Amino acid sequence: MNNFLITPIEYLKGVGPQKAELLKKELGIYNYLDLLEYYPFRYVDRSEFHTVAELISLNGHAQIKGRIVGMLESGVGRNKRLIAKFQDTTGMIDLVWFKGVSWIKSSLKINEDVVIYGKPTLFKGKWNIPHPEIATANATEVQGLQPVYSSTELLNSRGLNTKGIEKLIAGLLENIGGQIEDRLPIQLKQENRLIDRELAIRKIHAPSNELEAQQARFRLKFEELFFLQMELLFRKKITMEKSKGYVMERVGDEFNDFYEKYIPFELTGAQKRVLKEIRLDMKSGHHMNRLLQGDVGSGKTLVALLSMLLAVGNGYQAALIAPTEILAIQHYTSISEMMQPLGVRVALLTGSTKKKDRIPLHEGLLDGEIQLLIGTHALLEDTVQFKNLGFVVIDEQHRFGVAQRARMWKKNELPPHVLIMTATPIPRTLAMTFYGDLDVSVIDELPPGRKPITTMHKYDSSRLRLFGFMREEIKKGRQVYIVYPLIMESETLDFNNLMDGFEAIEKSFPKPDYHVSMVHGKMKPENKEFEMNRFIKGETQIMVATTVIEVGVNVPNASIMVIESAERFGLSQLHQLRGRVGRGAEQSYCILMTGDAISEDSKKRMETMVRTNDGFEIAEVDLQLRGPGDLMGTQQSGLLDLKISNLSKDAQIVTLTREVAKALLTKDPTLELSENKGVRSKLSDLLRARPNWGRIA
Ligand code: ADP
Ligand code: MG
Repeated sequence: MNNFLITPIEYLKGVGPQKAELLKKELGIYNYLDLLEYYPFRYVDRSEFHTVAELISLNGHAQIKGRIVGMLESGVGRNKRLIAKFQDTTGMIDLVWFKGVSWIKSSLKINEDVVIYGKPTLFKGKWNIPHPEIATANATEVQGLQPVYSSTELLNSRGLNTKGIEKLIAGLLENIGGQIEDRLPIQLKQENRLIDRELAIRKIHAPSNELEAQQARFRLKFEELFFLQMELLFRKKITMEKSKGYVMERVGDEFNDFYEKYIPFELTGAQKRVLKEIRLDMKSGHHMNRLLQGDVGSGKTLVALLSMLLAVGNGYQAALIAPTEILAIQHYTSISEMMQPLGVRVALLTGSTKKKDRIPLHEGLLDGEIQLLIGTHALLEDTVQFKNLGFVVIDEQHRFGVAQRARMWKKNELPPHVLIMTATPIPRTLAMTFYGDLDVSVIDELPPGRKPITTMHKYDSSRLRLFGFMREEIKKGRQVYIVYPLIMESETLDFNNLMDGFEAIEKSFPKPDYHVSMVHGKMKPENKEFEMNRFIKGETQIMVATTVIEVGVNVPNASIMVIESAERFGLSQLHQLRGRVGRGAEQSYCILMTGDAISEDSKKRMETMVRTNDGFEIAEVDLQLRGPGDLMGTQQSGLLDLKISNLSKDAQIVTLTREVAKALLTKDPTLELSENKGVRSKLSDLLRARPNWGRIA
């Protein structure tokens, strides 16, 4: 890369060592290029002004000239707030701050002309503007659109607010002439109406009007997504070329016996179709790398088991990896029961398998005595060796790190076939991108007889009615889950909440009529298992738990899922949790309990849950709310570390660039044409930066 662009940020005029440290720490800006690629997240049209009188009909952000005529501080601690009276010639409105109160107070000046920018909101029947931006009036005599950059509290306090960042970038832009390389071929740029890269970088930071901003954005998004697609297509090619896999042609006695005599249900059409897809892969001679998507309760486990039996019938060992110990134990219990009449030998290996039990287990795996191994990621450890591992199922993959999956490859000469199962459906554009080189199967049909779960959002104040409802259902013989959040940062606090909740429940549901179980992450595994089993056997009617029960647990008689502090859970987690009920023939309920005041995002999550049971629809909303990196849990892979594009909002550009990339590779598969030189060098940078990624997904 060009040297100028990788100049350390401390060399930029106006930065210096201290600010440089902050830019690195807070925003990940290390060099000039990082700063140039720190794009504004919106613009303020400084040519347009509104008045206080107009605000109410506006419904959106607005810019107003006026003065602050008074200030008022109220509340203490977390309730502390600052109210400033803002006035223009048409009226008065309150500006309100809930955070950084003292700092803001000291920076506001009474009776000085200022320009504010913010979104009026209605609170308890009164209009106000929470956390507006404020600038002195003369600083805004700028033409065109003014970029707005996100900053942090710390940066703000050192003068690096949006204005400060804008100034740094403006200074840098003066010196970039001729330094910005354009790697896209000229013809491709013409065909897709893309402006030059240097121009795009200038214009994204300082557009004269919306059209220029748009052109700049399009060029930069196109480039980013185009190279992402190129990388994916290339990696797919590399994996295809290397993808020799075990040939498993036989169906085998194990599969046939099970299918004919012991299978507990008639498979759904979707299960049969997916099984066929897997079977074709297994005998193709290529290495299978398949993602199985199916909503909660769609019966993925049975498909996995049948596939593993195919492998066993061909003389191979198979393994199933679950994300939690509880789930591993549950899979083990049900699978070993089903396998007993067949004589297939099943073993369990988790983090808490005792040392003395491990020795025979390791031996059994090495000499092939054990045919099916079920466990947690403990079975990825190097000490666990197989005789001939031919098939691996990874259940609920979103909990599995990319690096962990890579370790499976070290277990054999040829890689075992891999089936990754997830109940968190992935939106189409995201799947196309993230799993661009993985085959996807979908179970889009639930087993017959399921009643859709009824979901309700209730506030903490209606708890007594909730308890009444629980009693009625328990009287009918049903069971109830009550789930509390347990999030790392405030573990102690959460733990106390859980314990308080447990005590309150035991008081309201006293023995001997009621029995309550509790499961949480701090318990010893054997206690966890004991409590879980009491619930499974129906000895307890209520299970108070943290999210350790989130994935996969199957108790068909449980028909109520109460989620406490539901606002603290993400959508996919809520959907997962809800999936713990509705597994039997009874009408099931999911009740989302929240505090009275919840954020807009939280409201949207609750509404979505109440509105739909469809995992795909939920995944789309989740993608919009959270962004893809968070959704896939792959920030560390850097793959979805997009600077300007949004895989959800820019779905059209994703599709377009995929087509463009494919066409380019068809014409020039090895990128030898001179016009594609720039593309080739950028691509080899990308492939070098993330060497292992292609082996997994
Ligand atoms: P998930 O896809 O969420 O992992 P499971 O595999 O746990 O779902 O299956 C959910 C429930 O449906 C289990 O109780 C399972 O035994 C049952 N099940 C699976 N397949 C069928 C089928 N074809 N007909 C009826 N019930 C089924
Ligand atoms: Mg499952």
